[in-house]
Amino acid sequence: MRKSRYNLSQEEYDAKKKSKAELMAKKEKVTLSEEFNGYCDNKDHPLFSIKVTVDKPWAACYYCSKLWVLEGNKDGKKEH
Ligand SMILES: [Zn+2]
Repeated sequence: MRKSRYNLSQEEYDAKKKSKAELMAKKEKVTLSEEFNGYCDNKDHPLFSIKVTVDKPWAACYYCSKLWVLEGNKDGKKEH
């Protein structure tokens, strides 16, 4: 007999799914490959402008805390 890799009870499955969803909601992060000037793509709240530049390589949405980070500056540090 083949053993299922996802041998979780419905309860465990729901808990796992829920905690993952919560984690995503808390720490949603978008990695950008170039400068970005636009709006947060979360439609659950009013428009919030996001501006990510080489000088300021990250921005967080005021409403949903979604983080926008320019690639290569993941630590938020400036390289000189
Ligand atoms: Zn947002």
